[in-house]
Amino acid sequence: MDCKTIVTLYGAVGRIGGNIVLIEYKDQPIIIDFGKDFKQYRKYFNFPYPLPTRSITRELIKTEIIPQIRDSKGKVLPLYTKFENGKLIEEEGESPIKNVFISHAHMDHSGFITLLRKQIKIHMGGMANLIYSTIMMTKREVTLESKLFWDENDKKERIIRLNIEPFHKGSKINIDSIEVKPYPVDHSIPGAYGFIIQTPEKRIAYTGDFRMHGPAHILTRDFQDALSKEPLDLLICEGTNMGIGRVESEERVEKDAYKLIESSFKSGNKLVIVEVRSSDIDRINTFAQLAEKLDAQIVVTPRVGYLLNQIQKSGLDKRLQREIPSLYKGVKVLMRSKARLEWWEKDLLDDQRIETFDQNEISNPLIKTIILDSGRFNVFEKPPPPKTLYIQSISEHIDEEEEFEEERFINAMALYGIIVYRIHSSGHVEPIDLINFINNVKPKRLIPIHTEHPEVFSEIFKDKMEVLLIEKGYHVVL
Ligand SMILES: [Zn+2]
Repeated sequence: MDCKTIVTLYGAVGRIGGNIVLIEYKDQPIIIDFGKDFKQYRKYFNFPYPLPTRSITRELIKTEIIPQIRDSKGKVLPLYTKFENGKLIEEEGESPIKNVFISHAHMDHSGFITLLRKQIKIHMGGMANLIYSTIMMTKREVTLESKLFWDENDKKERIIRLNIEPFHKGSKINIDSIEVKPYPVDHSIPGAYGFIIQTPEKRIAYTGDFRMHGPAHILTRDFQDALSKEPLDLLICEGTNMGIGRVESEERVEKDAYKLIESSFKSGNKLVIVEVRSSDIDRINTFAQLAEKLDAQIVVTPRVGYLLNQIQKSGLDKRLQREIPSLYKGVKVLMRSKARLEWWEKDLLDDQRIETFDQNEISNPLIKTIILDSGRFNVFEKPPPPKTLYIQSISEHIDEEEEFEEERFINAMALYGIIVYRIHSSGHVEPIDLINFINNVKPKRLIPIHTEHPEVFSEIFKDKMEVLLIEKGYHVVL
């Protein structure tokens, strides 16, 4: 048993998000991804009701929002820090888990790393680290996850509590006899990686989230080539779109959005509001370029602006496939009331070279304007003129609860004569592309993860490989 490679899933089993994978070889276990399971979280917590802020044990472990991780001998692995009754007591004891690897900065893959003990090393891509840290710094709601990002003793200095070790393309990380190699892939966030994990006995791959139809699809191809070069014992593969696929691409988003915005401007409307994820840099790029082509000014919310600025300052923008919009070259920052600015907003606006756009102009835009908003636009706060175009350009996976929210949102927009459209391209691989990917990689065994329809995988691949549809916590001995 000791010289076997053992794999256990602790999240994203039969559902989208909350990835946590334990891989054991001898006495050196590692964890891949440490994501937030939003579905389980919303069972107990949702804004405006109280969010978890007091106790990891009572609010997160008891509710099974974070799992108790057991090794293959049945022993619970101590890995969470101690935070009880609003106080952090850093655990001193050694955790057998010393290394956690994060594929990308989406919260369903990285959202719970702040709950880990400080001594645990968190390996993530350089760009993922920057995006993740910026998201945490600019978060408004206070929860256990956001509190524990900061070192309690150095609140004023704003020192990060986590022990993050950034890697880059071509890095090789050796944990005793396990070697982990990250491979960049295309996804709806820059700096996303898949991993090849090599133990002395077995070769395992973990895809993270990926797609073949984005601007950086060449990266996914290279990952596929690397995987198919040598026999693969196990592929742990995402399958978000296995239920229903859509034909899509970032170019298509650009084309459709161009036509739509152009005709809206022609009809006399001057304002377009686009709902984007602040980390979806490809999409932000697409709309920034559209604004230029359509001779419109581009405005971003401070959160988007802060992230763009951080990427540019770090120099990591040079590693991206496309250039990113610059606040120093005509991109304006939406300015809300000065009274309640956060420290990072002040930091941003202190830079004299940055131009701002007054929130009051939303009601009466003087020239053609495209606003990129990473939050939910509140029409009651500052109603835009009727015929304003609102484009939703965010993820398409919504659950029941979000459907109600969506309905309320559409009701409010309709009340003010705002026209709502949806233009999006998924961050996840389409079904046919995914089938081709798996056929090319030809693993001996396949574990679908991050999908509501793992059964599709077993129906399609059962004659070619062993497809394992396993429960959470079931130890697969390779
Ligand atoms: Zn993702």
